[in-house]
Amino acid sequence: MKIGIIGTGYVGLVTAVGLADMGHDVIGTDTVREKIEKASKGIPHLYEPGLDELLRKNLKRGNIRFTHSLVKAIQESDVLFVCVNTPQKEDGTTDMTYVESVSRTIAENLNSYKLIVEKSTVPVRTSLWIRRTINLYKRSDEDFDVASNPEFLREGSAVQDFMNPERIVIGVESERAKEILVGIYKKFEDRILITNIDTAEIIKHASNSFLATKISYINLISELCEKTDADVELVAKGMGQDSRIGPQFLKAGLGYGGSCFPKDVRALIKMGEDLGVDMNLLSDVDKINKQRIKVFLQKIKKALWIVKKKKIAVLGLSFKPETDDIRNAPGISIIKELLADGANLRLYDPKAMDKMKKIFPPKIPKILYFQSPFEAVEGADAMLIITEWNEFRDMDMSKVRELMANPIIIDGRNVFKPEEVRNLGFEYYLVGKK
Ligand code: NAD
Repeated sequence: MKIGIIGTGYVGLVTAVGLADMGHDVIGTDTVREKIEKASKGIPHLYEPGLDELLRKNLKRGNIRFTHSLVKAIQESDVLFVCVNTPQKEDGTTDMTYVESVSRTIAENLNSYKLIVEKSTVPVRTSLWIRRTINLYKRSDEDFDVASNPEFLREGSAVQDFMNPERIVIGVESERAKEILVGIYKKFEDRILITNIDTAEIIKHASNSFLATKISYINLISELCEKTDADVELVAKGMGQDSRIGPQFLKAGLGYGGSCFPKDVRALIKMGEDLGVDMNLLSDVDKINKQRIKVFLQKIKKALWIVKKKKIAVLGLSFKPETDDIRNAPGISIIKELLADGANLRLYDPKAMDKMKKIFPPKIPKILYFQSPFEAVEGADAMLIITEWNEFRDMDMSKVRELMANPIIIDGRNVFKPEEVRNLGFEYYLVGKK
């Protein structure tokens, strides 16, 4: 069974390498030449722990190849995992242009039976559109099936998640498609959930929106805590010890970001509305999330009064630790607002600076990038923690205190022990607690 991976971004590259490591014969393709050239040399174009070694190992074993040609990948494969981006449009609906374009190319190059697997996160009923598109454009009598196999990996631990999944959801509508996919994931037979395609498509959106709801919920509670003497971390602990609630995704902070949660919540709202379902619960989840940035900016202003010309160290740019992904990172909105207010920003992130430079190119004295957090805090009037990299948690705070002009920390992720930093003389603002 030859497997083609269409789109070698965060999901596609991990899927390609993961399936190759499971012993499958994989060919990956992408429209961006640089991604394919790098991958062919064993260099991932993105940062994901463990991905580079696994890619090199499987290139060496001959289990994985890459090509610039989508046509070649289609013609040489029996199963095609569609891993292209499904971005959000202005109105919240999903932009299906890439999926449609791939479907047409598959139709035009249908040289044998193919199983087309939706790996991208897509609105419910997408499989019907893929099927219709292929039937409209195909030039041969070859048969095909469409299936859904949503991906649940988390950036930052994507390889680990792909290689040890908690569940594999397979949405199918034919016995042949079911057998092929169950065969591919044989190793994880004990955790395969087989459903119809609509169900599989909804499982993905419902899961992400539920996790986003948990995050917005605890952030809402954190605002209540800030207005009282309550401590949101202990509230979360007390809630999380109830096994019906569970401790995960109850960390108050700057809200969710990344390429999935914000867009998937909005997409589910639109899907529901289009189907006549009242989606107000999720509209509020989205609203609370947007509010997080405003609340944080208010704290900065409360601490600094006037932001104009203040030197502010911004630590953490990726949307979460252990990734270089900055899509929908809270840092982007915070930086934009602070620049508009005339601040001079000193930025640092262990992995995401190259990507951030494309949005905010260095400009003296407004936007400066540094090679270490210590350089970034030098002479700063305040330090912001935007992403909870361990590197920040482990910093020598006495040294930070000496380097800063004013010892003020506004922490969006509660990374420090309040007594410790306050004993060093810092003014310390946290989320949901004093
Ligand atoms: P990405 O932007 O990193 O990757 C998508 C890739 O598809 C890009 O490299 C792009 O160049 C390529 N592409 C677009 N059109 C193409 C075409 N016609 N032929 C070949 N390649 C093409 O996006 P991603 O983060 O990997 O996400 C992909 C999908 O998976 C999205 O639907 C996303 O919602 C979903 N998803 C993402 C994650 C995540 O954590 N990133 C997790 C689960 C699901």
